[in-house]
Amino acid sequence: MLVFGGVVTIQHWTPSRRRPKLRDMATTSFTKKSAGVETTVEPGVTPPQGNPETAFVKKPKLTTGKSRKREIPEGLWTKCPKCSTMLYDKELDENLKVCMKCGHHFRDIGARERIHSLVETCSFEEMDADLESVDILGFTGAASYKEKLETYKKRTGLKDAVITGIGKIHNQRTARGVMDFSFLGGSMGSVVGEKLTRMIETATAKQFPVVIISTSGGARMYEGMFSLMQMAKTCAALAYHAQAKLPYISVLTDPTTAGVMASYASVGDLIIAEPGAMIGFAGPRVIKDTTQAELPPGFQTAEFLLDHGLIDAIVPRKEMKDRLAYYLEFMMTGKSRLAVA
Ligand SMILES: [Zn+2]
Repeated sequence: MLVFGGVVTIQHWTPSRRRPKLRDMATTSFTKKSAGVETTVEPGVTPPQGNPETAFVKKPKLTTGKSRKREIPEGLWTKCPKCSTMLYDKELDENLKVCMKCGHHFRDIGARERIHSLVETCSFEEMDADLESVDILGFTGAASYKEKLETYKKRTGLKDAVITGIGKIHNQRTARGVMDFSFLGGSMGSVVGEKLTRMIETATAKQFPVVIISTSGGARMYEGMFSLMQMAKTCAALAYHAQAKLPYISVLTDPTTAGVMASYASVGDLIIAEPGAMIGFAGPRVIKDTTQAELPPGFQTAEFLLDHGLIDAIVPRKEMKDRLAYYLEFMMTGKSRLAVA
C-alpha cells in the first residue's frame, strides 16, 4: 500500500509469485488473512532449503475461526442403511421409499403413501376414520398411554395404527387395511382390531376380496388382554369371509411380528412379502436364548420364509399394485360380476 498526498493506492501484490527483496525480509513480516486461515511468513535472512520459488510459501495454519466443514441440511438426504448411498429425499419418495441403487425397502413408508400407490386415483373410501383408542386400563408409566396416544396422533396425523377402506385396483373393488409402523410401532390395540374386523365384515357382505398390508411390532401392551382379543376377533371375521369363498391376500412388510403375525397376517389365502422384510413371532435374540441354538443365516427374513414355504411370493413395492391386480383377477374368477363397480 502506497500513500501519495493523502490518496491511498493499493498495489496488486501476490506474495506467492513475487519474492520480496532481502532488505524487506529482514524488517517486515507479511501476513495474509483469509476467512478462517492465517498465513504468516516470518522474516529471515537465509532462505529455507529447497526450491527457491516455493520456499516462501509456508503451510497455512488453522486459526480459531469458525469451522468451514460442509454441512448437509437435514431433511433433504437419507443414507441407505444397506449400501450407504446418500439418497435425495424427493427421489426416494417418488421411488416409494426404495433405494435407487440397491433396492433396499425402507420401512418408514406411511399408510397413506401406500394406499396412494396401491389404488386407482380417487377411488379410496375410508371407513371408521374417527375411531380412536381409549386408555381402558388406566395404564401408567414414564408416560401414560393417554399421553402417548396424543403424541403419536400429533406426530403422524393418524388416529391409530391402521387405515381401512374400500378402493379399486384396476377394475376390482377391494377392502383394504393398511397398517402404519410410525404409530406406536404399528401395534394392534382394540381400534386396530375393530377397524379391521368391520372392514372384513363389510367385504363379506359386499362380496369384496380383502387385502391387508401389515407392519407391526405386535399386540399393544397398553391394552393388555383387550389387544390380545383382537387376534381372535380378526381371525373369526376372516373365517366368515373365507366361508363366503372370498379371497384374502396378506401382504407382510418390514417388520411384521408377534401378535399380528400370529393372527390375521399369517392366515391369508395368499401370503406375499416385500423383499428383505423381517417376519417372525418372537425376536431372534429371544429365540436364541430360549432354544440355546445357533440361528441359521437370514433367519426371519422374507427370503428365508419363502425358501421354507411359509410365504408364497416376494413382490417388490413398485410392482405390488400390478401383482395384486393379477392375483385378484385370478382369485375372483366367477365372482367379479358382484364385486366390480
Ligand atoms: Zn441402498
